[in-house]
Order: sequence, then structure tokens, then C-alpha cells
Amino acid sequence: MLTYNELLELRDKLTNGIIGLEEAKTQYWFNSKEEQRSWYTKDWKERKKSFIKDKCELCSSDDTLTVQHNSHPKKYSEYLREITRKYAKELIDTNPEISKSEFTDYIQKKHDYIPVPLCPNCKAKNPSERVRKIPKYRCADCKHEFDEAMYRSIDELISIFYENKDAYEIVDKCFVSKDKWRNKNNLSSVKYWMQREKAKNKDSETIEKEAFLLHINDCIKYLSFEDAITACKKCAYNMDIKKMDLCPECNRNYKGLQYPTCIECLPEERRKEVLESIQFAKEWHEMHSRFGID
Ligand SMILES: [Zn+2]
Ligand SMILES: [Zn+2]
Ligand SMILES: [Zn+2]
Repeated sequence: MLTYNELLELRDKLTNGIIGLEEAKTQYWFNSKEEQRSWYTKDWKERKKSFIKDKCELCSSDDTLTVQHNSHPKKYSEYLREITRKYAKELIDTNPEISKSEFTDYIQKKHDYIPVPLCPNCKAKNPSERVRKIPKYRCADCKHEFDEAMYRSIDELISIFYENKDAYEIVDKCFVSKDKWRNKNNLSSVKYWMQREKAKNKDSETIEKEAFLLHINDCIKYLSFEDAITACKKCAYNMDIKKMDLCPECNRNYKGLQYPTCIECLPEERRKEVLESIQFAKEWHEMHSRFGID
């Protein structure tokens, strides 16, 4: 794990092109895993010691003080997905068309086609399959009975897709990716993944660098304590587990992070409303548990 200063230096070097992305990644991940917690390092412990105040910044207690972060670094892999999605969207917005033959090639190379059985008479999907009776199938729509279902070819489906991408015939997820994920896709999603792959191949270096820098920025922000306060054990627990902090009005009650004050400190009218809705929720919950609905 790099120290705070080393991380700043790494970001500078990468931004100014003094080192390349691969070199930066190697330096960053050398001897460390992405998940490794920064507070195991000596650098962190020392910097924490100089950051931490002698009492809780929320309630002034001095019981077991800790650093309370308001945000945590997002993982590199998460940023990578996010940025890839952004580049895919740009590519789709500027260049939405793919030729039919290119699309067909891609599908055949990357997917297994599991066709949907159709009634040969009315072309309704998924006729009932009968285990004991002959003929094997019966169409629920037109009541036709038959032994052999009908299937559309890939070319037929693709032609329909190019006419109308929302057509009823092509909504089924009958294309299974040949990779280990075995994802089921319909033609629209196959097209999306194809374009996303194109964007990724075209701009892989740019995408990775952008994602890596965002992740490094998050880590720097985290290590700088810019977004942190000193909190006592109780306040830290309330923030982390219950998503609550101390009410700034009364400095006594805890409140949900999304609310400006605790219930008691709300203006009269608003307080009544909230108390009533809490009472209502309680009764509702009791009624449900009584009837065993919960
Ligand atoms: Zn506190
Ligand atoms: Zn039918
Ligand atoms: Zn209050």
C-alpha cells in the first residue's frame, strides 16, 4: 500500500505522462490488494494521530474516538464498468448502426441460439408440450395439435429486428453467450454488448486510465481525511449502522442522515405529521404480524 504522499506523486506522474498506465498500476498494486485496508499502514496511523481531535465533533464525548469518513473510495472495477458504459453510450449515440452481416457474424461467433418453439398454424410461442399424449404439442391459442414445432432461423429473426427492434417476435432471450457466464440475451441486448465491446476495444487505454485516476482520486480524498470527522463510538455506530447522526438543533437526539433535525425539533405541524405516520406504520406492522402476513 502506497503512502498518502506516494499516491499524490503517482497521480501527478500518470496525469503528466511521466509514467504510463501499466507502470502506474504496477506501482499501485505492488504488494497490495485493492481491498487492503489503509489503516494497517504506519503512514495511516501516524496521520490519523495528528488528525484526530480530543473529543467527538458531534456530541463532544471523548469515549473511544475514531475517524468517521463520510465517503469511501469506489473500487477501480466499479469505475471501469461505469466509464466503459459511458464510452459505449457515446459510441451508440454517434454511430448507432451496425451492418446486418457484421451483426450476424458476431451473434454466431459469440452466442448459442436456443430457438423458441412456435405453433406451425398460428405461430404462437411456446405451445404446451404434453408428456403422455400424442401429438406432442397443443397450441393454447388456436388449439392446433402437432408433433413438430416450428422454429425461426437466426437470419429470419435478424431481418425482423432490422425492420422493427421492438417486434414481438424478437423479444425472447434466446441467445446464450458462449463465455463462462452463459448470459441470456435478446437481439437488442446482443447489439448493446457488441457496441460496448467495440467501444472498449477502441478506447481501452483511455477508459482504463480514466477509471484508474478516479479510483486514485477517491483514495487520496479518503487518506487526506478531507471528508472525515472525529466521532465517538456511539456517534460512529449510529452513522455507520443506523445511518443516523446527532440533531444539530438539540444536540441530544439522533436523526436519520437525510433529515435536517430530529422529530422533536421539527416545526409543530410537521412533527404531528411525522408522528402520525410513524404511529400508522406501527399499527400496520402489528396488524400484519397478527395475521402472519410478515
Ligand atoms: Zn459522539
Ligand atoms: Zn396455434
Ligand atoms: Zn433535535
